[in-house]
Amino acid sequence: MSAQQAFLGTPQARMSSVRAPRGAPVTGQLVDKFGRVHRDLRISLTDRCSLRCTYCMPEQGMQWLAKPTLLTTEELLRLTAVAVDLGIEEVRLTGGEPLLRRDIIDVVTGIRAIHGPAGPPEVSMTTNALGLERTAEALAAAGMGRVNVSLDTLRPDRFRELARRDRLDDTLAGIRAAYRAGLHPLKLNAVLMRGINDDEALDLLDFALEHGYEMRFIEQMPLDAQHGWTREEMVTGAEILASLRQGHELVPVGQRGSAPAERYLVDGGPATVGVIASVTAPFCGSCDRVRLTADGQLRNCLFAQAETDLRTPMREGASDDDLAGLFHECLAGKRPGHGIDEPGFLQPPRPMSAIGG
Ligand code: SAM
Repeated sequence: MSAQQAFLGTPQARMSSVRAPRGAPVTGQLVDKFGRVHRDLRISLTDRCSLRCTYCMPEQGMQWLAKPTLLTTEELLRLTAVAVDLGIEEVRLTGGEPLLRRDIIDVVTGIRAIHGPAGPPEVSMTTNALGLERTAEALAAAGMGRVNVSLDTLRPDRFRELARRDRLDDTLAGIRAAYRAGLHPLKLNAVLMRGINDDEALDLLDFALEHGYEMRFIEQMPLDAQHGWTREEMVTGAEILASLRQGHELVPVGQRGSAPAERYLVDGGPATVGVIASVTAPFCGSCDRVRLTADGQLRNCLFAQAETDLRTPMREGASDDDLAGLFHECLAGKRPGHGIDEPGFLQPPRPMSAIGG
C-alpha cells in the first residue's frame, strides 16, 4: 500500500485542509532577507519527554504546555501542508520526545501524503529511541526515512545519572530495531560534557563504526531549562576532534551545504563522523531551518526571542493563504546569526525541549 493509500484510510483523509493549498495566489518560497531559502521544517510534537537529561531539563518542576494549546493531528498536517507548498522539502519530527505522541504513525502517514511542488516531503525524526523497538517497523511503513537517536553514553550507570532513568538497554534495543527497519542512515547524537562523559568520545565513535551507525557530536548549547550552561564547561568541537584523532584518522568531507554537521571521513572512509559546533563555529549563514512548536508557534531560529502564533489565527478561521503569509512574516524577522557571542545575548524563554531540537 502506498503512503497515499495508507493516508486515505485515516480520519485525516477526510479533511481537505491537509492538502497543500492549490491555486492563486502562490506566495512563494520561504526566503529571508539574507537570501536563505528555507526547506527544512522541524516540528516539535510534544514538550514532554520520557527522559530527564541533566543538560536539558530538571528532574521535576517543568511547566508543561497546556493540553488545549497542543496542535491536533489535523492542525499539524494543515500547517505542514502550507509549509510544503512554500517549498519545505524535509520535515523532522522532534520534541520533547516525539514517540510520546500517540498519533505519531498518523502524523507520518499524513505528512507523506502531502504533495508539494517537489513531491512529498522527506520525514525523519530525532528521538531517544524509547518506544522505537515497538514502532520502528510501522514508522518505516508509514514513510519515515531515517532517524537520529540521542546517545550520550554507553555505560549503564552513567546513563542512569545523565538521563535520570535506567533505560540504556531500552535505548539500545530501539536503535537496533530502527536499523533493522531500514531507517538509514541511522545517526547517533551525543552531547559531551566536561568531566561527565567527555572521556567517551572514542568509545561512542567505535560503537557506531562497529554497528554501521553514523556518530555525531553536538556542542552543548545554552538551551537548558535550568539556564545552567556556561561556555567554560562546554566541550568544544575542537576538543572533540582532538579526542577522536587519538584513535582515528579524520579527513574533512567538505561540501556541507546547509547541514549543521561538519563531517569527517574516518580512516579513509566510507564511514563518517559529524561534529556540530553550533557555538564555536556557527553555520547560521547557510541555515535553511524553521521550527514549529507543539503549541503552534513558528520560530525562525532555535535562539529566537520572538515567535509567530499560527495556532490562534488557524483556530479563528485563517485561510491557507493567511497562514502562508504568517510563515513569510516569521522568516522576514530572521536574524543573520544566533548571536550567542553578542554581548546582549539572552537565552530564549523556551528550553530546547519545548522548541524541538
Ligand atoms: N527526545 C528526543 C531526543 O532525545 O533526541 C528529541 C528532542 S532532544 C531536545 C533533541 C536533541 O537535542 C538531542 O540530541 C539532545 O541531545 C539535544 N540537546 C538537548 N539539549 C541540548 C543542549 N543544551 N545543547 C545541545 N544539544 C541539546
